[in-house]
Amino acid sequence: MALYKRVLLKLSGEALAGEQKFGIVPEAIQPLCQEIKKLYETGIQIALVVGGGNIFRGIKSSEKGIDRVTADYMGMLGTVINGLAFQDALEKSGVSSRLMSSISIVELSEPFIRRRAIKYLEDGQIVIFAGGTGNPYFSTDTAASLRAAQINAEVILKGTKVDGVFESDPVKNPGAKRFDVISFNEVLKRGLKVMDATAIAMCRDNGIPIIVFNLTRKDALLRLVNGEPEGTIVKEDSNG
Ligand code: UDP
Repeated sequence: MALYKRVLLKLSGEALAGEQKFGIVPEAIQPLCQEIKKLYETGIQIALVVGGGNIFRGIKSSEKGIDRVTADYMGMLGTVINGLAFQDALEKSGVSSRLMSSISIVELSEPFIRRRAIKYLEDGQIVIFAGGTGNPYFSTDTAASLRAAQINAEVILKGTKVDGVFESDPVKNPGAKRFDVISFNEVLKRGLKVMDATAIAMCRDNGIPIIVFNLTRKDALLRLVNGEPEGTIVKEDSNG
């Protein structure tokens, strides 16, 4: 029996780029859609926030001379491109979805309207939130925490390439310890790379746990929504 009725899945843009780390590789999206489809078939309502780092990252480009605000809008537009790619791939997997963007692009997407998003979820459609928060200086991780709070998602499932939250980068330090459970404040205090501090604080203040899991592990999504040990759960301290 699944623990959740409504979840928000956050995928970084890199998930769409496969080994290439840049751009969109359709073959990399298909296996992800298969995993999402298995979750969808359990009847859990799924909202999806896609990042844009595989296309454009504002802060990096602003360091190289592009105006920060302009660069951030370019990044947000990248998330819409990714959202379209995901919608297409989900459709090909037989899963119906709606694309809502925080930046109006009416020919391709709907605006974010909370009640409408909830209605689509209740009707069994996956809702893809693109365009980040619609504001520069934020990230799609923050967009995930914002939308999760707005649609009353019970948990954020943050897909990564590693098996959860580690005390240091497990790619560089293969012996790094992985946490099964960690509190929001501990993540902030240690500066762990789970999501950025704005997103973590927002989840903490709104009581939305985050489960960090490995996107490439088959059936990981199914296991974690069934409460089986998978990834790392970030939640409130037991003493509040
Ligand atoms: N971005 C933004 N505001 C938002 C969300 C995203 O300005 O609310 C821009 C920002 O420049 C960011 C880029 O879009 O670098 C891509 O998003 P992000 O880096 O979060 O993507 P991810 O790392 O998840 O692929």
